[in-house]
Amino acid sequence: MGLRLPLRRSASFTPDHPALMEVPGPTTLKMEANVLVMGADNVGKSALTVRFLTWRFIGEYGDMEFIYSHNLTVDGREILFHIWDVPNSQEQAEEGSSEEKRIQWADSFVLVYSICDRASFNILPLKIQFIKAAKEGQSQEKVPIVIVGNKRDLHHQRVVSSEEGRLLALSLDCGFYEVSAAEAYHGALMVFHGLAERIPDTKLALKKGTGIRGIVKTMSAVFARKRTDSL
Ligand code: GDP
Ligand code: MG
Repeated sequence: MGLRLPLRRSASFTPDHPALMEVPGPTTLKMEANVLVMGADNVGKSALTVRFLTWRFIGEYGDMEFIYSHNLTVDGREILFHIWDVPNSQEQAEEGSSEEKRIQWADSFVLVYSICDRASFNILPLKIQFIKAAKEGQSQEKVPIVIVGNKRDLHHQRVVSSEEGRLLALSLDCGFYEVSAAEAYHGALMVFHGLAERIPDTKLALKKGTGIRGIVKTMSAVFARKRTDSL
């Protein structure tokens, strides 16, 4: 866990990248992806992230800001995920600018709501439109986004139906999963697996190794601003 030096993407043998065609590549492509985990407070962003990374549910997660690195192999591609678990919202103005920086850093997104919290679901369309406006203008490519309805175990307190979640995802062209970070590892794996499937090779291959320096730079920019703002 924590910041680790990312692996370099290995040469890929693909007609899309003629410059690399002479290099006999290994059967597994090594790639990187920056993932931002977003959503309202207390929906289980940290629980889902920690579940994926450690297979565990520990109950209380505090409110620290972390970028974790974790490998997952999907369809012959070994993807090193850098996962930014966003802390709960603080002062609104600061949050807005920090969020923009995080969105710039990320190239794929996990948007979490709680099936027991209507407001956490209602904020998603705006957030997703904001992400799309920020990212799709730049690359013309679809942004990989997965919507996650968490706390599925609390079915007696459910206020958002599975159907609503599925329809929202369909209308915004996102993946959709309902999970319980508390109950099982499988759901968390499905989320990141599904996200990986939505990330095209071109997106990953074009990445110029957003390595530890880029991440530290982004993090310190965010933290520096926080420190200044709180003075
Ligand atoms: P975050 O603020 O979005 O990062 O939310 P946390 O991961 O800190 O979780 C907020 C609270 O919800 C904590 O008390 C967790 O134990 C609890 N929680 C998270 N996921 C689940 C879940 O799937 N089911 C239940 N019952 N509780 C959960
Ligand atoms: Mg958290």
